[in-house]
Amino acid sequence: MSYPKRYLITSALPYANGLKHVGHLAGAYIPADIYVRYLRAQKRDVVFVCGSDEHGTAIPIQAMKEGTTPQAIIDKYHFAMKQDFADLDISFDIYHRTSSPLHHETAQEFFTYLNDRGELETKETEQYYDEEAKSFLADRYIKGTCPNCGSDRAFGDQCENCGTTLSPDELINPVSTLSGNPPVKKKTTHWYLPLGKHEQFLRTWILEQHKDDWRNTVIGQCKSWIEGGLQSRAVTRDLDWGIALPSSLKGGLGKVLYVWFDAPIGYISATKQWAIDNGKDWKPYWQDKETKLVHFIGKDNIVFHCIIFPIMLKLHGDILPDNVPANEFLNLEGDKMSTSRNWKLEMRDYINDFVKKENGGGQCVDMLRYYLTQIAPETKDSEFTWKGFQDAVNSELVSVFGNFVNRTWVLMHKLCNGKVPVFHNDLIDDQDKQLIADITASKEKVESLLEQYKFREALYEVIDLSRKGNQYMQKKEPWILAKKLAPLNPPQGGTSESGNMKRSLNIDDTKAPPSEGFGEASSLEGREAAQKSIDNCLHLCLQLSANLTVLIHPFLPNTAQKMLHMMKVVDKILDWKNAGSLKLLSVGYSLREPQLLFRKIEDAEIAEQMEKLKAGLVKAETGSLTAGQAGQKSDLTPQASDLKPQIQYDDFTKLDLKVATIIAAEKVAKADKLLKLEVDLGFEKRIIVSGIALHFKPEDIIGKQVVIVANLAPRKMKGIESNGMILMAEDKDGKLKFINPDEASANGSSVS
Ligand SMILES: [Zn+2]
Repeated sequence: MSYPKRYLITSALPYANGLKHVGHLAGAYIPADIYVRYLRAQKRDVVFVCGSDEHGTAIPIQAMKEGTTPQAIIDKYHFAMKQDFADLDISFDIYHRTSSPLHHETAQEFFTYLNDRGELETKETEQYYDEEAKSFLADRYIKGTCPNCGSDRAFGDQCENCGTTLSPDELINPVSTLSGNPPVKKKTTHWYLPLGKHEQFLRTWILEQHKDDWRNTVIGQCKSWIEGGLQSRAVTRDLDWGIALPSSLKGGLGKVLYVWFDAPIGYISATKQWAIDNGKDWKPYWQDKETKLVHFIGKDNIVFHCIIFPIMLKLHGDILPDNVPANEFLNLEGDKMSTSRNWKLEMRDYINDFVKKENGGGQCVDMLRYYLTQIAPETKDSEFTWKGFQDAVNSELVSVFGNFVNRTWVLMHKLCNGKVPVFHNDLIDDQDKQLIADITASKEKVESLLEQYKFREALYEVIDLSRKGNQYMQKKEPWILAKKLAPLNPPQGGTSESGNMKRSLNIDDTKAPPSEGFGEASSLEGREAAQKSIDNCLHLCLQLSANLTVLIHPFLPNTAQKMLHMMKVVDKILDWKNAGSLKLLSVGYSLREPQLLFRKIEDAEIAEQMEKLKAGLVKAETGSLTAGQAGQKSDLTPQASDLKPQIQYDDFTKLDLKVATIIAAEKVAKADKLLKLEVDLGFEKRIIVSGIALHFKPEDIIGKQVVIVANLAPRKMKGIESNGMILMAEDKDGKLKFINPDEASANGSSVS
């Protein structure tokens, strides 16, 4: 089989407006990392690029939410995401960012190249403009009443209350979120990429040439886009956050590239930066037909990577992706992962709760990589459950793979002096032959699955090979043969040692006759035959372990390193060409003592994670609950002495506490715990959603003074944006009382 001259592998650029969760990890990062580690073990020329996507309106919006600047937002999340990937051993050759000058330059050059050749169209349209802020308004910057449900908090792109997709023109009474004024319509010119012109190219390239090697789910989505009619797509927009159009361009002033246009070019600028850093030439990776380009993404990115970016690449004279193995979505405990509902497991949460909590967190990294590959949503949506995680670790990694390696090492130290025993060819039997055949066949099986991006099945094959090792050992029973090696007069206490060994090996020897074996040991030939049989068994089990190291390495790099250490061999053994070999460990070579590869996941650990998940959900639904209440909801009864960790004065001063008066209160539809309150802060009135409906009637609390956290980031509950939180005291019976000044105070008074 011939292979491409070089590979360029990309993982979707994560958007720098928040931390990413394990669904993202399973979709675009772990599969790419497995593939790249496999290619490197094959000694192929490969570059693995990724980086943060830092433009688009969601960045300034996040900045408004967090009360900071867009630059602060991208810095915060770029470095946090980069660290998360590093902590989970995603081995990018470069993790770049689209705010870099090199990327700006690259994207501008790309735009100019297409524009100069007449591949873009310009159109004049009317768009909403805020005269006071002197700014065109992105859809998100326009608020109004939803024509569908009547909510007065719909945005120009979507109503958060009923979920309807909107255009700004559909909003009733639109206002600008920048100034609060009604926007006016103003003429503006934009550049468009006419996708329709390239329909025939897409039909031939995707629906004919790749109909057999791309995933059905990917082909299906492309087909529906193509058949649905390809519209021209605006390449530019009026915004002050993004990549400015080239200054020489007439009419380009004040416009930036649309983020969907600049982001995928980020793969090219990342490759350029990698080449600069490593003294290489980036051009062949994007321009030479002998390069294989593969994009790893989630299904929400298919249109960009299969339709739009390939058109751009074709027009720019670059290579096209050879495959786009997009994954479906990963759900969590029976529900979609959602940031706004706090139903998610962020990579950072797992890193803090598992990886950082113990020495040698590498095994915890591998446990997550294992489970996420085992449930990878390759052909349909799949689901992360903590119970599933525990089962995968305890009953596969620990009981099958880990157990096989550990038994092999313990027995080799007990019965073969810690050295690789010789293999006696004259004694080879059918069981040995079968295991040898299994080892030899595994390389091709795993390889062929990896080349087809079937990571789940490939991992299954590796684990299955270790299962075959266990079955082989179970049939060979070297611990029974060992009894024949015992001296004629066994020393006192000798049985207790073998008892220990059995316990540490978890061996069931109820079938073995208690001590009759010693009778046979009197025959010298019997002892020799037993030793040879043990040698053969452990020789093969050790060669199998070495093979497992090579095969598991792309999936579980930390486990492979541990096994290398136990074998006292260097990384070179990880070369893929070594898989299938029965000569990886030399006879007579002494190996280190075993160390456990994986620990078990305890029931208490998953119970704790489930509680955390539910507590997060309660918090998201009832923004103003006290910590005690949130605990109660998830059956975590707080103790009186449960003080939170100590904080510094500076932490306290970050809170802006103010006196306010409740001026309106009503129940929230379809949420029996929530009240929508309007409070007067003197300098402004605002809406706060509070989880107190079971405790207070709306009509009873109007006019009450309360203390609120005034600078809490806004949060949506049942489609209503809550801007702050009301402080409450909760007694031990769960009764709630407002906190208020002992005499009426002016609204807006500071509390400190
Ligand atoms: Zn609506």
